[in-house]
Amino acid sequence: MTGPLVAILSGAGISTESGIPDYRGPTGLWRRDPEAEKLATYEYYMADPEIRRRSWQARRAVWALRPEPNAAHLAIADLDRSGVPVRVITQNVDGLHQRAGIPGRKVLELHGTTRDVVCTGCDARMPTEEVLPRLEAGEPDPACLDCGGILKTATVMFGQELDPLVLGQAAAIARACEVMIAVGTSLQVYPAAGLVDIAVDGGARLIIVNAEPTPYDGLAGEVIREPIGTSLPAVLHRLRRQYEEREASS
Ligand code: ZN
Repeated sequence: MTGPLVAILSGAGISTESGIPDYRGPTGLWRRDPEAEKLATYEYYMADPEIRRRSWQARRAVWALRPEPNAAHLAIADLDRSGVPVRVITQNVDGLHQRAGIPGRKVLELHGTTRDVVCTGCDARMPTEEVLPRLEAGEPDPACLDCGGILKTATVMFGQELDPLVLGQAAAIARACEVMIAVGTSLQVYPAAGLVDIAVDGGARLIIVNAEPTPYDGLAGEVIREPIGTSLPAVLHRLRRQYEEREASS
């Protein structure tokens, strides 16, 4: 494979302009209401139907907003279409990168996805669209139609392991990239922070686009605090020009 030239490491901040709340951020729900964190904690979710009811309600509230990809997601997909080798590693579970048009095989979802639902009993997997109508029809905690097991979104909850295959692929991308752009992530939690270490150790240029300071700002060649929806497209446009000039002269 050629590249990836550009690795995008994205966090919640890239999707807030699409209306998706940043649960962990400085003003996030989980800071304001620590109880809400239980809704995404595997142990509580499995043990308590009331937690599951509230968790599904919270998901439905986000889905009801019908979030659309914003200018930042679209600019990444555009860069990919322009021929620059791009890979996306995301902490987000909203599927907005793929919705923006970048092929799914180029997107690694570290924390899984809400676009699918899985059964914790028989491992059946189905599109969320198949379960949504049951929620809409008033089922507070829909069970698996095959085995009666507890259903959950295909996200990695607190207390669950990240997929080692996905992690390994993310590390390989971090090692191989020339440029890593960390966008909308505080870089304070594993594995995002570790991936930045790998990229920098491998000689990649680091660009950070985030409203708040991160522990990696000192290692970055460039730190941008402007709103992501306008600043990221500008950064990607510049990278694309540089890539095209290099291709033309080689
Ligand atoms: Zn099942």
